[in-house]
Amino acid sequence: MQDDFSWLPQPDPHQFRLYPGERQVMRRKLTRSGSEWAQGERVVHVSPLPGAWDNDTAPQLVGIMDAFTEEHVREIFVAGGSQGGKTDLSHNCWGWSAVYAPGPALIVMQDKISGSEVVNDRLIPMIRDTPSLRKLRTKNPDDISLSRVRLKNGMVTYLAWSNSEGRLASKPIKILIMSEVDLYPEQSVKKARARTRAFRFERKIMEECTTSTSKGRIWLAQFSAQECREFYAVCPHCGHEQTLKFGGICWADGITDPSDLTEKGSAWYECESCQKRWDEEDRDDAVREGRERENKGWRRRDDGKPQVLRPSSIWHHVPPLLSQFVTFNEIAAAYLTTLVEPTAANLKYFYNDCLGLPTPEDSEGEILQEQEIYDRRESYAPDGAKWDLPMAALVITAFADVQDDRLECEARAWGIGKENWGLGKKVFHGSPAQQDVWDQLHDYLQDKEWRHESGARLRVAATGIDTGGHHSQEAYAFSKKSSRYYACKGANVPGKPLITRPVKSKAKVPLYMIGTEGAKDSIHGWLSVTKTGPRYCHFTMQHDFEYFKELVSEHAVNKKDSKGRPVRVWEVRKGYKRNEALDIFVGTYAILERLNPNMEKLALKMNVPVTLEKKPARKPAPERKNEPREEAPAAGMRSRPSWR
Ligand SMILES: [Zn+2]
Repeated sequence: MQDDFSWLPQPDPHQFRLYPGERQVMRRKLTRSGSEWAQGERVVHVSPLPGAWDNDTAPQLVGIMDAFTEEHVREIFVAGGSQGGKTDLSHNCWGWSAVYAPGPALIVMQDKISGSEVVNDRLIPMIRDTPSLRKLRTKNPDDISLSRVRLKNGMVTYLAWSNSEGRLASKPIKILIMSEVDLYPEQSVKKARARTRAFRFERKIMEECTTSTSKGRIWLAQFSAQECREFYAVCPHCGHEQTLKFGGICWADGITDPSDLTEKGSAWYECESCQKRWDEEDRDDAVREGRERENKGWRRRDDGKPQVLRPSSIWHHVPPLLSQFVTFNEIAAAYLTTLVEPTAANLKYFYNDCLGLPTPEDSEGEILQEQEIYDRRESYAPDGAKWDLPMAALVITAFADVQDDRLECEARAWGIGKENWGLGKKVFHGSPAQQDVWDQLHDYLQDKEWRHESGARLRVAATGIDTGGHHSQEAYAFSKKSSRYYACKGANVPGKPLITRPVKSKAKVPLYMIGTEGAKDSIHGWLSVTKTGPRYCHFTMQHDFEYFKELVSEHAVNKKDSKGRPVRVWEVRKGYKRNEALDIFVGTYAILERLNPNMEKLALKMNVPVTLEKKPARKPAPERKNEPREEAPAAGMRSRPSWR
């Protein structure tokens, strides 16, 4: 009897079987993201910290690497400063492509010398020491040369430099990496990009550069990219997420010489929400914490473009402030240097290398617009309140400007961190040759009272009188009327302190010289602060549009002095005439400096519940792995996390 096996499941004649080799090819490749690959594999050689790549030393780059490896992304733009790790970033992306998405690649450098440096010092050692790339090396030594790298999986990488048009225009390219792209002739960029056309549905293009000017390729790329992204760091004190800007860097008042920064204490970063001070370790924590947030800390900038769900081109701005290798002092010193010596090279270094921003085209200070500040006017007290000045305003100074037919005076209240409240300009009409006008001013300064939210009543604590005009004798005479009046004279000499010690004037009245140039720099900076708190300038509804035109009437211009040295001076802008409001602001600031009140004591005296943390207590230092904390790091030296 024949065995009947028909009850057994029979092989399906239509079943399709794969040979092991075919299965190998068809198997879905387990792909890691760019940053995951780099963390486990990449070995860096030219770096302040050579060895295994650690995402923790550049947390801000993680999101960019991962964006590069996203399936829908075709183009990545990175605009940054000089120490942002952009080159390593592009090499990580190249390494990831070699392992997970190989194809013909082209790496373009600005010139032949930097091209061969990159191959010799970075790419060849990287292939040699990175395990997954080492596996891809062929036995033929000719496969790795200065102009071409051929790997076992068929990936060929060509090296070219931006002025070698012949090398830029032939074979089709899938992966294109262009470094320092602002330095290329436009034709070269076009030629290189044209070569990716055959791969337009799978190509990956990375363009990176230190920002140069607002007309540079990398800066303009933000307008063509489908999405622009900014990195949000997280305050280690209050958890507030914020982008890091130059405006957050603060240093002690009165420091104007860059070399004083390290001697007289360091610059710090101020959280835009809780105003606590960060040192550089706090900043590193803030950036690391940012990476833990959604999309590795990178958020879409809302610039009015329609949101694209799966953007194919993404532009990133990487300010050097995010980098562990950049100190606040370095940036503050570069800024102070531009004030002392505003040469093109210094401005370029400060804007491009330190901030990753384009150099202002006319190399002049940023131009403030009256409308923007006018729109910020506010009522200090709510309707029906029995007070005029909010809690945070602690002391009032005033300044009187002498004109041929009138006296103009404004009082300004000050709080902690130079936050200030303009109290409205008062004009006393009449020739200053007549006593009557001065009497009116005297009455105003003596009698005017402001009701403080705490219930206290505040008067002007001190007033400066401008003696520089035609009526200096009358101004001197007036200043003798009260010990709270100070005879002042403006000195528009760059580098002069805000207010000098008194000198004897002809009228035997102590005369104070006001360094207007530095004060205008400060005030100009305060006016661009848009969030209430330290340095913010408040204006009441009484300030009219003309007042704001006067306030923004001047801009900083780079000139040569009599000896041919470059100097930065403040000048009235074209189309503007009067600048009294700005002069008076400068005066009230100088008088505050002269008084130098102890704001904490004042607040205590007035029962003002202000958080007085000039030097916030350091939070307990976070446990750092593998790092013995130095007891007292030498000046300028900072401990860094070590490589694992
Ligand atoms: Zn904070």
